[in-house]
Amino acid sequence: MTGFRATVLTLYPEMFPGPLGISLAGKALAEGAWSLETVQIRDYATDKHRMVDDTPAGGGAGMVMKPDVLGRAVDQVADERPKLFMSPRGKPLTQARVRELAAGPGAILLCGRFEGVDERLIEGRDFEEVSIGDYILSGGETAAIVMLDAIVRLLPGVMGNVLSGETESFETGLLEHPHFTKPQEWEGRRIPDVLLSGNHGAIDKWRRAEAERLTRERRPDLWDKKNPQNR
Ligand code: SAH
Repeated sequence: MTGFRATVLTLYPEMFPGPLGISLAGKALAEGAWSLETVQIRDYATDKHRMVDDTPAGGGAGMVMKPDVLGRAVDQVADERPKLFMSPRGKPLTQARVRELAAGPGAILLCGRFEGVDERLIEGRDFEEVSIGDYILSGGETAAIVMLDAIVRLLPGVMGNVLSGETESFETGLLEHPHFTKPQEWEGRRIPDVLLSGNHGAIDKWRRAEAERLTRERRPDLWDKKNPQNR
């Protein structure tokens, strides 16, 4: 198998491929542009109750996923691919990191449940923690799906219109300009005249100005990063 290889370690393999099985990602999966394998973590539990979690050392609420069980599961699949633990404590996922991952051989994704996983597993198996945003999900599976969706659409041949990736939000450090399509007038609102002018220089200029305006208004953090002299 060539192409991007994703291996997901989870207690809920039935959540996959889920949304990744339809539309562009699903077609690319069926055509072999990428592959997806799930590993049921519970298969690596050895006691008679097949326990995957236990009470937190030091007390407190919730349960923690056991390092011995997870360690065996990871060792079964580990190779040269980066190992990512989906985690709200992780570095926030960016389009730049998505691009890097899409250019690599694949990824091993660990999905947490309960309070999370034993810290020694993260350290001992060299996991990079990745967050998809400042909110708490009930498990890492939906985060893994989000991340794989972002990666897969960048793989060669997956997106029909290659150009559409290049002006997209974040690719240029700016949010994307607004879009319009027919009809020319809808509920009293008209498509901006410049977009109907056929003047491509003027159109590019307008789009650029709109992208800058939206970024300044909505994402001053991105704007400052792009224009460090304004800081
Ligand atoms: N007690 C943890 C949250 C556990 S949520 C804390 O306060 O940090 C259970 C699991 O869901 C996590 O182990 C992680 O795998 C996943 N998860 C929750 N929120 C996430 C986010 N924003 N990004 C990525 N994974 C997340």
